[in-house]
Amino acid sequence: MKNQKTISLPTAAQYSTPSTHSAARSGRHPAHNTLARVFVLLLICVFMFSTTAFAKAPAIVAPSDLINVVAERTGLPADLDALVNAGYLTAPEKRHLEKYDTFSNAVAWHVLLPAFGLYPYPAEFYPEIAPHPSWPNGTVYADARAAGIMLNLVDPQLEPNYAMTKSDFNVLVQKLKTTSFTLPVPSTTYPFIAVQEEAADATGLEPWDIHTYLGRNSVLSAYHLIPAGWLAEFNSRGWHINFTLPHDHPNPKLLNYVSAGCTNFQTSTISIANPKAITTLHEFAHFAAKYGTVYLDDMEYCFNREASGVANILGLYAMTSPSEYLAEFTAYWLLYPDKQNTLRELAPASADLTEYLIHAFDDQPALLTAA
Ligand SMILES: [Zn+2]
Repeated sequence: MKNQKTISLPTAAQYSTPSTHSAARSGRHPAHNTLARVFVLLLICVFMFSTTAFAKAPAIVAPSDLINVVAERTGLPADLDALVNAGYLTAPEKRHLEKYDTFSNAVAWHVLLPAFGLYPYPAEFYPEIAPHPSWPNGTVYADARAAGIMLNLVDPQLEPNYAMTKSDFNVLVQKLKTTSFTLPVPSTTYPFIAVQEEAADATGLEPWDIHTYLGRNSVLSAYHLIPAGWLAEFNSRGWHINFTLPHDHPNPKLLNYVSAGCTNFQTSTISIANPKAITTLHEFAHFAAKYGTVYLDDMEYCFNREASGVANILGLYAMTSPSEYLAEFTAYWLLYPDKQNTLRELAPASADLTEYLIHAFDDQPALLTAA
């Protein structure tokens, strides 16, 4: 838009006295000059119309406005890196804000709600809200939009990917500053969530924060897909879920992978720090493989013979070791039932091992799901 505004078109006066010398030199017929004049007049009309349209376009909000509001609310420096490190911005959002002089409605919702202590739940828990085609359920932008609609902060008709206008931004920030909102907790009997809410009640703390709500959403989205036998085993062994990674977790950047979760057999803990359902299923698969007595020989057999054939489906992380392969294979199997036939065709031994793993504790009573 900036470029269009600064185009400098010749004035009408310049065109009204064409140089006969240049016309003669170029060998044009005089009729061409008349045509050229009409064309230029048309151009000027289009230009004037478009500048009028620009003048009426609503003002767009600048990245600095967003950064300043988040910094003011959180006490963090008004600096992109500080906000990424604290979890308020994703790395792609930072790159976008550096490159462009605006941001979308979706980014504003995703960044502002947590800055005001509102941590969106997975959008699929609000079935009354129709997902927007730009951001299907299962994305953080769908979650932020659904939370905004639930709280009457977001117009369901608004296109999430449009640049946010200054007036929409000011109205949203003003509402967030002056009203106390509480997000409706999705109706769920998921015990891990209830435990966290109760612990927070007892200590008077907010149950969720900028770090823990991502792992919470992963568990919420995955819970109904975790085999009941796994949950029973998890409960009977006294295991826990953490919604942040332990401080002594090895730096995943060294391995070029974004850390999402970990399973610690010393502390009997699964830690999830990523909103994707597949992360929870992956860590539970590690747990099940250990106590369901899956032998390393079997994992290595599947990995060596079949992993490369499904690498383009499962991704490169599944190729890092036999146990990561099985965890990714099983998580993908549970999350995408319609892909199970394809996986079985490409990797039959891995499919057999996965089905064994899924049913490894089936003789256990499902204590946890009955709780
Ligand atoms: Zn793993």
